[in-house]
Amino acid sequence: MTENSEIQTLRAPLDVLAVMAHPDDAELLCGGTLIKSARQAHRVGVIDLTAGEMGSSGSAAIRGKEADHAAEIMGLVERRCLGLPDANLENNRESRHLLIEHLRTLRPRTVITHWPVGRHPDHRIAAELVRDACFLSALTKLDIEGEPFRPIKLVYATAFREDAFPADFVVDITDHVDRKLEAISAYSSQFDGATKGGEILPGGERPLTEQIRMQLAHYGSLIRVPYGEPFRISEALEVEDLTKLSVSTF
Ligand SMILES: [Zn+2]
Repeated sequence: MTENSEIQTLRAPLDVLAVMAHPDDAELLCGGTLIKSARQAHRVGVIDLTAGEMGSSGSAAIRGKEADHAAEIMGLVERRCLGLPDANLENNRESRHLLIEHLRTLRPRTVITHWPVGRHPDHRIAAELVRDACFLSALTKLDIEGEPFRPIKLVYATAFREDAFPADFVVDITDHVDRKLEAISAYSSQFDGATKGGEILPGGERPLTEQIRMQLAHYGSLIRVPYGEPFRISEALEVEDLTKLSVSTF
């Protein structure tokens, strides 16, 4: 590979980018889909809006190392932490412009973020912030570095949000569920011995990873496969050929 083509590769746009509030949110909400996308030879990245420094256990430094390890497990080509204030995330000019700078550099085709209703206020605000930044990023008169750019698709990850049902689509992650759980387990400061975490409602004293696996099995059943991750979108899905529609009605 010549030096030039190396630079081109490094500068190639991302195919899929998850923008989430805290380190570990991407793994919990759409880790299987990110792993699957990377295995499909897509360029996949994650932006953590905060370092998760307000979490009850661990620290920003520890969670940063865990996030790097999880990124390797998932096969990401890019992971960035924007360092916005944890537990005090705001959809304001400063945070929008910071995110737009990164969107203009990474140029993702598809962006995944939180469902706009959430237990953690940062999740709700992240959903709004990401949508607004994706839209505004294309405006030519903004005083922000980089070429104006807008992702084509914004997708909401709705795993563990009962209020977000029904899913508009489910990604089959059956071949990637073990690796997703491995990526989650990289956050040992958060999840070692845990029975609850993130948006996941506990199943009594059932270990968290087992609880996650059971919920993913439920989402899988929506498309008649062992494990899946659910998503919502704001637009209708296009169908070209009725005979190619999958998932049996009966
Ligand atoms: Zn979170």
